[in-house]
Amino acid sequence: MSAASVLDGIGLEGRCVSLTLERGRIAAIAPCAGAAQWQVLPLPVDPHVHLDKSFIWPRARPDAPGLFPAIEATQSDKAYWTEADLRTRAARALAEAQANGIRGMRSHVDWGEPDTPLAWTVLGEVAAEWRDRVTLQRAPLVSLDILGDPAHGPAIAAHVAATGDGVLGAFLYRHADYPEKLARIFALAADHGLRLDFHVDEGLEPEAQGFDEIVRLTGVHGMAGRVLCGHACALSVRPADAVARVLDDAAEAGIALCVLPTTNLWLQDGSPGRTPRLRGLAPLHEARAAGVRVVFGADNVADPFYPFGSFDTIETLRLACTAAHLDPTEWLGAITTDASQTLGLPAPTIAPNAPADFLLLHGADWHQALRRPPKRRIFRNGTKIEDTP
Ligand SMILES: [Zn+2]
Repeated sequence: MSAASVLDGIGLEGRCVSLTLERGRIAAIAPCAGAAQWQVLPLPVDPHVHLDKSFIWPRARPDAPGLFPAIEATQSDKAYWTEADLRTRAARALAEAQANGIRGMRSHVDWGEPDTPLAWTVLGEVAAEWRDRVTLQRAPLVSLDILGDPAHGPAIAAHVAATGDGVLGAFLYRHADYPEKLARIFALAADHGLRLDFHVDEGLEPEAQGFDEIVRLTGVHGMAGRVLCGHACALSVRPADAVARVLDDAAEAGIALCVLPTTNLWLQDGSPGRTPRLRGLAPLHEARAAGVRVVFGADNVADPFYPFGSFDTIETLRLACTAAHLDPTEWLGAITTDASQTLGLPAPTIAPNAPADFLLLHGADWHQALRRPPKRRIFRNGTKIEDTP
């Protein structure tokens, strides 16, 4: 590593500072005269993506709006999911993530049958190849009916515990007998010491209340900080008092909530020729006010669930700000510290002696930096590795 280098004009928590970088670390932070030109952010983490389906959109267009046609289109596309196809698309996704400064991601992996899907194994190999650049965790995305089935769940959980990244997961939307199935899944997680990550209540029917049962079981099993719920769109259409109660319980149980604006905006309340009225975002202001950790994910990128998008947490944050009326300066943690802690990764900081792994976004303040897609610089190990991709 070369001698120290100094970056001037860096905006950090509203102050202008200079960062001294030495041997891959932030050696010193000192006040700086004048106005900041760049805003600094620890390298972001995306807690919810799907690398097995990324970029299949051109060959897998759903024939109707909504979640279930997207699931069907993905199902049909799986005929093409060879090892080479999976590797090529996952590597493209990781390269895009790396170029945007992402240091870690959790990818769900479709697990449609009791047997282990090829994508689980291939993404595990790809994760090992990328370990030094982007940390990639896998979470199985299994139907509640399969994972909650005593004939299949134990073998899946054992396989995930042996070959995975410490996370078990399932898809839950108004499944029959869901409390019993969830109880079995929590017992499997407890037996194997696994975290849990759910796709839950991704729809606009107020009867979808799987989230409530996950909250209850998280408390029963003492799994605070180890359970992440993605979507929970149905909370957006339930009565305010019921939502307030379950969010209080979620905070008490230590559940984290992942809000996925691209996919929710695209899939919820869709029908041909009609403008959507309901946008499907979980009540994130209320959740955070209640004490729930809220994080943001890109979810789907160029697949049947969302045809646009990129592996870029900054763009996810910008869209979340528009969709949910957020002040970005209050939500930077949703793609950095909170996202890291939700995945069990070390919390990044911008502080003396911390690793010099960060993003610089061009702008005198956060408003300027995030007003439009920002010019950015990425530092890893104290070295600038990439300008705006
Ligand atoms: Zn998802």
